[in-house]
Amino acid sequence: MVQGRVSARVEQLNESATLAIDARAKSMLAAGVDVVSFAAGEPDFATPNFIVEAAVEAARDPRNHHYTPAAGLGELREVIAERSAHLSGLTVDPRQVVVTNGGKHAVYSTMMTLLDDGDEVLIPAPYWVTYPEVVRLAGGIPIAVPTDLETGFKVTPALLAQYVTPRTKMLIHVSPSNPTGAVYSEEETAALADFADRNGLYVVSDEIYQQLTYGFASAPAIGSFASDALAERLVLVNGVAKTFAMTGWRVGWVVAPTDVADGVIKLQSQLCSNVANVSQRASIAALRADASETQYMRDAFARRRETIVTLLSAIEGVDIMWPQGAFYAFPSVQGILKKEFDGEPIGSSYRLAELLLEHAKVAVIPGEAFDAPGYLRLSYALADEGIVEGIGRISAFVARL
Ligand code: PMP
Repeated sequence: MVQGRVSARVEQLNESATLAIDARAKSMLAAGVDVVSFAAGEPDFATPNFIVEAAVEAARDPRNHHYTPAAGLGELREVIAERSAHLSGLTVDPRQVVVTNGGKHAVYSTMMTLLDDGDEVLIPAPYWVTYPEVVRLAGGIPIAVPTDLETGFKVTPALLAQYVTPRTKMLIHVSPSNPTGAVYSEEETAALADFADRNGLYVVSDEIYQQLTYGFASAPAIGSFASDALAERLVLVNGVAKTFAMTGWRVGWVVAPTDVADGVIKLQSQLCSNVANVSQRASIAALRADASETQYMRDAFARRRETIVTLLSAIEGVDIMWPQGAFYAFPSVQGILKKEFDGEPIGSSYRLAELLLEHAKVAVIPGEAFDAPGYLRLSYALADEGIVEGIGRISAFVARL
């Protein structure tokens, strides 16, 4: 190994803790260890068959064997424009849409296109680990705005205002949230839109979990509260991964004012050209389908949410909010950290996650990965029996402390 030859830019990146722990759990499973993993941020379902069939057909069609426009297939851009307009109430022209390699790539390209060195970006914490990393890669400065269980993991204009400086350029908004499952109400969303408007901020709204809400919660789109001025500074990022169980297909998108979209397209043309055509065709089928085709997945997540929250709340030392969307439970484990294992206080949620993997054979993501020590993130996108078994193991482990 040659020391020190990796660029400073890449050297300063933190590896995705979620992917790292998930990989560790998967390799333990492959080695025959019976691990229950709550680590993955992905649905356990196979991609629905009608989508797979559209892909098989696309693979056989030579039209899809060649380069296509960097911005994405025209047909897909149209479907995305229609859907975004429908969900946000904004007028969306297909020229505002750029198809990317997943939502992660959409976030990256947006930051590269909008940020200059030293621009500050407000990121409500706990946050998805990728945001601060890509903000830094683009030369920006991530500014975490802390929230906790008491505040329902939501920021307010009054809180955000404390972090605004003359360098503040952007607010990242994500509802439902990864990792907390928090969903902003209409009033709360309108207040954030108004705050961004008054402060001249750009808003990047990550809507990848927007279709996954439970009970009476629905996730209002911030676009539906945007003034004309804010609509000119609003970028939506989204993708097929979570709604259609298509994490492996790598299709996401950016919806932005045309000059910003043109910037994203230019970047993409030099970075990776077009997204795989077969995946784009599969995504057209997914987005055109009636919502009833994928209702069984939302029903399963709703049921699993009840199971996991009920079982977790019964564990002494665990405090939990009902997540209203996405597929994550985000309990506080403060009450467990004072307890001792082998004569040593556990001390941190990071250590607790290590002990759970080693001694209870359960993989969870420690809150440290989301700038929220003292919490754990458990995905409930796994089979019902797995949830019962896994929480049972955690409960037994905690009882031994
Ligand atoms: N945004 C959030 C909040 C996410 O949790 C994820 C996936 N973990 C993504 C975007 C991106 O998903 P993908 O790149 O798989 O489309």
